[in-house]
Order: sequence, then structure tokens, then C-alpha cells
Amino acid sequence: MIGLIAITMAGRAAAARLAAAWPAETRTYDGPARQALQRAWTQCDGLVCFLAVGATTRLIAPLLDSKWFDPAVVCVDEPGRYAVALVGGHAAGANALCARVADVLGAQAIVTTATDATGLPGLDTLGWPAEGAIAQVSRALLDGEPVGFTADETWPLPPLPVTVGEAGLHRIVVTDRIVPVDENTVVLRPPSLAAGIGASRGVSAEEVLALLDEALAVGGLSRGSVAALATVEAKAGEEGIVEAARAGGWPLHAYPAGQLAEIDVPNPGEAALAAVGTPSVAEAAALARGDVLVVPKRKSAMATVALARIHPRGRLALVGLGPGDRDLVTPRAIEELRRASVVVGLDQYLDQVRDVLRPGTRVLGSGLGEEERRASTAVTQARQGHAVALVGSGDAGVYAMASPALAIAGTDIDVVGVPGVTAGLAAAALLGAPLGHDHAIISLSDLHTPWEVIERRIRAAAEGDFVVVFYNPRSADRDWQLGAALEILAGHRPPGTPAGVVRDAFRDGQRVLLTTLAELDPAAVDMRSVVIVGAASTRMVAGRMITPRGYKWHPS
Ligand code: SAH
Repeated sequence: MIGLIAITMAGRAAAARLAAAWPAETRTYDGPARQALQRAWTQCDGLVCFLAVGATTRLIAPLLDSKWFDPAVVCVDEPGRYAVALVGGHAAGANALCARVADVLGAQAIVTTATDATGLPGLDTLGWPAEGAIAQVSRALLDGEPVGFTADETWPLPPLPVTVGEAGLHRIVVTDRIVPVDENTVVLRPPSLAAGIGASRGVSAEEVLALLDEALAVGGLSRGSVAALATVEAKAGEEGIVEAARAGGWPLHAYPAGQLAEIDVPNPGEAALAAVGTPSVAEAAALARGDVLVVPKRKSAMATVALARIHPRGRLALVGLGPGDRDLVTPRAIEELRRASVVVGLDQYLDQVRDVLRPGTRVLGSGLGEEERRASTAVTQARQGHAVALVGSGDAGVYAMASPALAIAGTDIDVVGVPGVTAGLAAAALLGAPLGHDHAIISLSDLHTPWEVIERRIRAAAEGDFVVVFYNPRSADRDWQLGAALEILAGHRPPGTPAGVVRDAFRDGQRVLLTTLAELDPAAVDMRSVVIVGAASTRMVAGRMITPRGYKWHPS
């Protein structure tokens, strides 16, 4: 029985939701918390207290005996955001109860016991099937014992704890092969096999799966590594194949007959050519999804199966860190930084996020002006199969590292872009809403772009009446460009046009200056600043710079 203890209105409402979800399992205890808890303690094997952790701890303290006899205790906070497994995590099942409570209430489950909280540290994020001594190896990892690690190929794994290496009593083996395991070994199954499937109309899912298992057995391969089924388009709706894919939880890829017909296979057949227009379905489809055939075509009465191995591809995440403040780094950027085993970037940006990186992450920092080396380091690491994050401030694709990296990246790696809040957006948000209508972003750095080109673009923006955002506006060595740029704009818009300078947006020492085109003093601007100059319609309203969207109903 699960006892529900609530004293506030919100607590009672949440308790009622649990009672409604699990009517046969729950009992609600009313009255003062202390008495209710004492009664529930002796009558229940699990308690859910809609009370603060502190209050619950004080109430249960005199009742605690041992983890073998005490009930599981879960606390839920007043707004129902968190469910906390307080005592009895393993022995009494509080961790499991906590997860169930969180599910029903839409709360976040907080579990702090070591193994439940971490599993195989880092590796759990992959979602790969694991077999063998999971508890023992997890324990060894948590205790900081050396754990051996071998993999058939380099997979883009998250960082492994620093104690994971060549040797150790406990081992992690990454392979799709059936290998002998002992009581100290975990086998992780990478998604490395593509199963090509052909079938006659009316084949059963059982027949497909039985033949697939036979092919796996012949190849000495594990079902846990099957990443996908593949077939010809004409068979994409064949019930037995669809059902087999569903049963295994595999995606089903279908390829046009013409594409399959072009793939070289060891065992082409006339029958398939006549039926679906390609001499091979199983082998060709396996090779369309995978890279090398490892089990040639096998046949049963109505099905054919072949297996190909999919080589791992490295992963390059291009991650924008935003303008500065931590809460302007997107949660996805943080997730990608923790997913990567190699993080590449400018030292000063890496310093901003070092604390979120997992132990064991290789950090390859470099100084200003080494853009090409950073880009090539990141791509080379990804080519070697690693999970790499290349970071940049703002957005990694805006005057930053994404384009030099992608310019030298091939089709052999996966690329993931994580957008960031740019300096331009950050500055605009501080100034008001200057980007409410068409705008142009122009870098005034003539290190990589000839000044004539920059000047032509400024002129075009001036003539086109664009709001203009200037990046890299002024440095010690480049001190005249901003003045020249403002002069060009001044030839096309009135001196009173609103303009803003934002230095160190969303960083310590942030400075926001609102002024006009005529009064903007370039001396107030440096490389840590963004300058925004309004268009004809831009105005100041209540001390804020706004560019109207121009809707007819807009009060002018
Ligand atoms: N990738 C970055 C831009 C890098 S270029 C982005 O998307 O924002 C470097 C220029 O960006 C600087 O010279 C400056 O003009 C601007 N900049 C970057 N961060 C800034 C900040 N926090 N405040 C003001 N300007 C910033």
C-alpha cells in the first residue's frame, strides 16, 4: 500500500491525482502531518509526502529503523515540479516509486543513489543495448577502479571516465559480434548492422524474424546491433516486413529498385529482377544502408535476408554558446557539449563552459587567430570517428568557425548544428526592438575582406534603407573603418537617426549606449561591441530604439 500524506491544498490536489491513477494501491492519510505520517509508516510500504524534504526528514527521523524495514519515502514539492526519492531507494523501492510518481504528476524524478543515478557513466546516453555484468561494471566505474575498454571500431562515444582504458579486471567491450563474456564484462551493442530483407507477398513476420536470427547466428552477430531493416520500395508495405521491423523496434528503409539494381552484389537473381526490377533485394538493400556485406543472402520459403555492416561515422557538432551569460546558452548546446568526447575552440570560450564538460573530455583549446587550425583539428578528430564539439560565441555559423570547418568536411562525418544567440540579437534585445524590419549585418573587419567590398555592401544597405548591424566594428589597428561606414550611412539618412552601441552584451561590464547617427562617437566603440544604426522608420519610444514592422494598423 502507498500512503499519501498532504496538508496543503496543492498537495491534496496532487495526492488526489495519484489516488485516481492508482485507486487499488493508495490510501490517503488526513489530519496533522505528524500523526498522519506515523499511522502511514506502520501500514504502508511506500509513502508519498507532499511536504518539503526538510519537513519530511524531521517527521520521519524518529521513525527510521533500517533500510530493510522502513517504507520507501518520496517527497513532492508544493508546485509539483520535483519528486524526490528520500529514503529506501533500492531496498524499499523509493527510486522506482519516485519515477512512477513523477510520471503521473509530470514532475522531474530526483534520484540520488549512485547506480540508479548514473548507470554506466556517460555510456547510458547512447541508448545502446548493454549485456552482461552491468551492475558490477557500473560499480567499478563509480568506485574509480580501472576498467578495460575495447571496441571493434572507433564510435563517436561520449567521454569515458578517466579510469577507463586499456586494462582492468572489469571490461567494456563494444562489438556486434557474439563474444565470450565473463562475470566482469559488459558488452555494448553498437548500431552497426543493416539487414536487407526480400520477401514474397504474404510472408509472415515470424518467418522474416526467424531468417534474420539465422543470418545473425551464421555471422556470429548480435541482434542488439541491428540498426535498421532495408528493402525495395515495392515491398515497403509488405505486412510481414513492416511487422518484423515494428517487433524489433527498427526503422525500415525502402530504396527504389533502380538504385538497388546499380549495387554490385555477389548473388544476383533472375526472379527478383522479373518481380521487382532489381536482380537483388536483400543484398543490395543491406548494402544501400550499410557499407560491407557480412552475411550473404539466405533464403527461406518466402523471405531472403542479407546483413551488411555499417561503419561508424564521426560526429561534428557546431555549437553556439551565445553572447556570454550562462542562461543564454541553450540547453541543447549544453547537451552537445556533454555528448562530445573532444571539444575544440578558442580558450576564452572554452573557459566559459569547462564546468559542464564531463570528466574525461579532451579539450583542445587554441588562441586567437588560429581559425584554420581549429577548424582542421575539429574535422580531423571527427574523421577519426570521435564525437567532436566545435564551439563559438554567439552562433558558431556567424563570423565564426562553422563555415571554415564545413568547407573542409566531407560526406564521411555527421554534422549537427546548434544555433546560438548572436551578438546582434543580444545587442538588439538590450536596445529595444531595432530589428523589427529588414536589416543587414556587416562585418567591418577588412582582414579577410577587401575594404572596397565592405564599402559596396554598406552603400547598398544605405541605399536600400536597411537597419545595419556592424560586427567587428573597431580595433586598435582598424580605427577608421567605422567612421567611414557611418559617413556613408549619413549620406542616406538623417543625422537624428537612432543608433546604439552595445559593449559586452550579457557579460560582466555590459554597456548600452543609445545615441544618433550624427552623435555616435567611434571612440566609444571597440572589438567587444556591436553597433546598430536605424533605418528611416526607426525611432525612439520611451527611451527604446524601435523599427516598426510597418503594419497598416501600427500607430505611427
Ligand atoms: N559568432 C559571433 C560573432 C563573432 S565575431 C556571434 O554570432 O555573435 C566577433 C564580434 O562579435 C565582435 O567583434 C563583436 O562585434 C561581436 N560580439 C561578440 N560577442 C559580443 C558581445 N557579447 N557583446 C557585443 N558584441 C559582441
